[in-house]
Amino acid sequence: MSNITPLLERNKAFAATGTWRNAPRLPFLPFKGLYVITCIDPRTDPAEFLGLQFAEAIVARTVGGRVTDAVIQDLSYIGYLVETKAPDGPYFEAVVIHHTDCGSRLLEDPALRHGFAQRSGYDEDMLALLPATVPAETVRSDVRKILAAPQISSRITVSGMVYDTATGLLETVAEPAHPVADLCLV
Ligand SMILES: [Zn+2]
Repeated sequence: MSNITPLLERNKAFAATGTWRNAPRLPFLPFKGLYVITCIDPRTDPAEFLGLQFAEAIVARTVGGRVTDAVIQDLSYIGYLVETKAPDGPYFEAVVIHHTDCGSRLLEDPALRHGFAQRSGYDEDMLALLPATVPAETVRSDVRKILAAPQISSRITVSGMVYDTATGLLETVAEPAHPVADLCLV
């Protein structure tokens, strides 16, 4: 038996609720118009800290919530879908959320970083940039990265927040801005 086997009972219960019938139509924009990018840490599940319900948000999760090229690709794809399939909108808002006490900070240890680079073949200098050491700073950096990416639809907005694992509270550190617009970062 795998770890997921006991959860199949929860899946049956979910299927029995019929919740899944109330789904958005093509291009499958979430009901709350949100695209949340945050960490894979199990303590930082946006379904919990934002109280998200079924189909209310698109959620992308990476180590640290860092905006990788793959995140940019997905975000640009969804923006393009809206532009081509539903050009009148509504357009969605993307929000980057990093958090305190992030496990990405373990990569601050040069020995661990070097070992992982040796093991994986990933570039050690790139890995050194990954830790969300000061989450307010990495959030602003990643928001700027999205806003500057030419692939991203100028119709969406991008903002940034920090989640405090000690209080459960979010703090806005980058106000919503459009790509190729003023980088209005607080
Ligand atoms: Zn984390």
